[in-house]
Amino acid sequence: MVTAVSDITLASILAARRAIAGTAIETPLVPSPYLSSVAGHEILLKMEMTQPIGAFKLRGAANAIFALPDDVAGVTCCSTGNHGRGVAFAARERGLRAVICMSKLVPRAKIDGIKALGAEVRIIGASQDEAQLECDRLVGEEGLVDISPFDTPPVIAGQGTIGVELMEHRADLATVLVPLSGGGLAGGIALAVKTMSPRTRVIGISMDRGPAMVESMRAGKPVDVEELPSLADSLGGGIGLENQYSFALCRDYLDGTILVSEAEIYRGVQALYFEDRLVCEGGSAVGAAALLAGKLDDLEGPTAMIISGRNIDMKLHADIIQGRDVVLGDLTLPGKPYARREPD
Ligand SMILES: *Cc1c(COP(=O)(O)O)cnc(C)c1O
Repeated sequence: MVTAVSDITLASILAARRAIAGTAIETPLVPSPYLSSVAGHEILLKMEMTQPIGAFKLRGAANAIFALPDDVAGVTCCSTGNHGRGVAFAARERGLRAVICMSKLVPRAKIDGIKALGAEVRIIGASQDEAQLECDRLVGEEGLVDISPFDTPPVIAGQGTIGVELMEHRADLATVLVPLSGGGLAGGIALAVKTMSPRTRVIGISMDRGPAMVESMRAGKPVDVEELPSLADSLGGGIGLENQYSFALCRDYLDGTILVSEAEIYRGVQALYFEDRLVCEGGSAVGAAALLAGKLDDLEGPTAMIISGRNIDMKLHADIIQGRDVVLGDLTLPGKPYARREPD
């Protein structure tokens, strides 16, 4: 494993910020009165769900795509979710062809969402691995550039712009809570925050079903985990055994990690809806989930929680809000109507 973390610096994050201004928005940081009362400290929600694609991934995708040379034939990626939307949106902004590859298991709504952003969608094979082979073919035969979801310097620098905005808005933040999957988001934010404010703690939060980065950090090297269906579907997937950047950044800069269960995520989605009136996808509710589960009882001051996206299937969201059972592959999550946790 090569670790060239020095390729990503506060300077490259500040350059990313200039590059993506006008495409990704500077998102608001809004107080959550209820979560603040539970925490006993100010909780501020960083509203990445309000990006034009409904998730932060536009930042990294735009920074990577805007840095490409003018004669590039186009871009591709293998993503069913927010990264695919980010690549499609940023490519359209630059007038570039974008081909997003997916397996035939991907639901219609996701395909239509990406097509609506102007990208070509290619449905290939029965797994993401087969879809990735089509990406590789497009790179080899048609000269498209494969945009990585989390493990290249321009993508990580793009996500890191969130950290700069946070510290500019609130230099007194004691803690930043970040949803953690491949680690582009957490790695970029942690690098920016720890450089600007070394005493601010940055905590990564994953679901306990298949947390690839957390398992890798424990093992001291990138490891594979079994991918299981989760309410936090945007946090699924591996970090790549050949990981070059995001693993080292998370290992070196994160102050800690927390795992949350599916039942806790379910409750986090409910709380953000009933208390803050927000429609959030599971992956963006892990911070609220951890807080409400009593896993953040050591907070020390003003805390920012990254609300990373809102692209949840609306039928699933309605089921959670109504307190109905949810089926995740072979796991049935028993329904539970929302009940407020009164502050201690
Ligand atoms: C991709 C994603 C994450 C995790 O980002 P990584 O860089 O893979 O760690 C968190 N939340 C949402 C909504 C995402 O789409």
